[in-house]
Amino acid sequence: MRLVLIGPPGAGKGTQAAILRKDLGIPHISTGDLFREHVSRRTALGQDAQRYLDTGELVPDDITDEMIRRRLAEPDTQGGFLLDGYPRTVRQAEELGSMLSDSEGGIDAVLEFTAPEDVVVPRLLSRGRADDTEQVIRHRQQVYRSQTAPLLAHYAARLLTFHAVGSAEQIGERVLTALKERGLVTRRDESA
Ligand code: ADP
Repeated sequence: MRLVLIGPPGAGKGTQAAILRKDLGIPHISTGDLFREHVSRRTALGQDAQRYLDTGELVPDDITDEMIRRRLAEPDTQGGFLLDGYPRTVRQAEELGSMLSDSEGGIDAVLEFTAPEDVVVPRLLSRGRADDTEQVIRHRQQVYRSQTAPLLAHYAARLLTFHAVGSAEQIGERVLTALKERGLVTRRDESA
């Protein structure tokens, strides 16, 4: 199963991806994690990406698209994947569609996690990642609203929306139930 997770910074995409990865037995691919890994390994890509991460701007598409293209070529993605943080713009969604050689994008469902800004900002501040200063967080929220939110219309037909307030387990259960209702998860998919 191929799933895309969308939501503002702090809505808990990474937490849900970790739960779903176990339940569904498919890899979690997070662009934020991939970038941070490159930064810590001091690769050329990491050096190119760092200033964007530091300010909360989107990393340029040529860098991001190529990183994802390579990741999706790895054999563990054959049975599906959870994409977290990509696509983040309508243009990236179109690029993903062409990578998967399917005009529909070959995506089974898009999971949207919503949470009010006054809930997510304190969550992120308490996490304390390098790009979790109040100013950068506010900027990432703004980038989300202006560049990523328009993707929801692009994926309207496959969109499942979850209000991401409550315990991570409860939200995870709601996601699994919704996927089952859509016939997307059968017993065989569940690795648990
Ligand atoms: P959050 O969703 O909490 O802002 P992420 O870990 O998903 O954090 O992303 C961190 C940073 O990585 C972003 O602020 C951006 O600079 C970069 N990034 C992640 N995904 C993309 C993407 N698809 N396109 C461009 N930049 C990205």
